[in-house]
Amino acid sequence: MKRSADSALKSVLLSGILLTMPTRTPVPFPGNRPPSSSQLTANPQVRVALDWFDAHRSWIDDEQARLTEIPAPTFQEAERAAAIRVLLSAVGLEVFTDKIGNVIGLLRGSSDKEMVILSAHLDTVFPADTDVKVHREKSRMTAPGISDNGAGLAALVAVARAIHEARIQPQRSILFVADVGEEGEGNLRGMRAVVDAYRDRLKAVIVLDGSSVDHVTTKALASRRMEVIITGPGGHSWSDFGIPNPINALIRGSVRFINTRVPANPRTTYNLGQIAGGTSVNSVPHDASLKVDLRSENEDELLRLESALRDCITAGVRDETEAARDRSKGKLDWKLNLLGSRPGGELPANSTLLSGLRAADEFLGNESRQERASTDANIPLSVGIDAIAIGAGGNGGGAHSLQEWYESAGRELGLRRVLLTLLGASGVVAEKTR
Ligand SMILES: [Zn+2]
Repeated sequence: MKRSADSALKSVLLSGILLTMPTRTPVPFPGNRPPSSSQLTANPQVRVALDWFDAHRSWIDDEQARLTEIPAPTFQEAERAAAIRVLLSAVGLEVFTDKIGNVIGLLRGSSDKEMVILSAHLDTVFPADTDVKVHREKSRMTAPGISDNGAGLAALVAVARAIHEARIQPQRSILFVADVGEEGEGNLRGMRAVVDAYRDRLKAVIVLDGSSVDHVTTKALASRRMEVIITGPGGHSWSDFGIPNPINALIRGSVRFINTRVPANPRTTYNLGQIAGGTSVNSVPHDASLKVDLRSENEDELLRLESALRDCITAGVRDETEAARDRSKGKLDWKLNLLGSRPGGELPANSTLLSGLRAADEFLGNESRQERASTDANIPLSVGIDAIAIGAGGNGGGAHSLQEWYESAGRELGLRRVLLTLLGASGVVAEKTR
């Protein structure tokens, strides 16, 4: 049942009175309950921060474009990190770069014993020589990485700046984190390091990834990324014909593997994503390699899929060896490397972080569905720390493609949703106002 507008107004007024009472005693979360969105928005400073986004849309858009135009392939995020460092320093945070390249800006709470993190990953899937020039047409921007994670990074600095300009002091300390190594073979190394460093004090992690307001990732999708490498003697395509060929073996094994049946429920997927090998069309190759991404809602299915890959490659190498008519020049060798492993995990249904997000959605008149995905939130979720991944507002599409786009119209809704969820998790120290 919906509350009437009247009683909602009363409770806003009441909580407004509570929040403006002349205390600044840091009592984080009495009764272990975070402040509700209406309690938060009764605070005049929070309202200033909420309004800040409207008035600064073009600044946020411009920063997003500027950051997106700094190439940041995974493992080469330093230049973009330096730009974020400048932006976070400009809003009064204590900023430092950790030893693997994460930029961390600290906003001290009234208590330093507990912390919450707002994060956005710095890296993109695009190689350093990709043209990342942003093409703008009205509020639409097109460029590789503009949404994933230009939108998240722009939101990270916008929320930090809104909180700064509104002079909000949180109860729990807030760490604004621009982290490295989220994509591909980065294997979430940035978030792993941050969670490692703050684990004891960390109460919640909010990950900003991409655009939109229609979802909240509360379940971490487990994945494993494997690389198959097959090597052989190599030789001339004509004179050495008949020696075992690593590419043939890889194809034989791959065809077996893609005939593996995977369940629709629990959803389990595989992708042969990258293939390489050989030196020329008229050489029997020395090597062939293949990168495979395996994912499942269920860890047991994931392990089963990994062993299927191993069995299929074993069989492919055996088939090729048996088919070879000349084994005198050498044999095939192969190995399977684990490139990355992302642990699974799930946010408990009664988590205060989730109820904070739900309250923000309700306050803003937004609806969102829960999702399972592979994001930086996998790391805190896998060790039992409350975490969600959400979009940064606006709309976007074509993630991981050269046609990636972002539309900033309406992004304020997403930014307010992030701000309210963050302050719900951190708490706000009520100002002495009278
Ligand atoms: Zn992303």
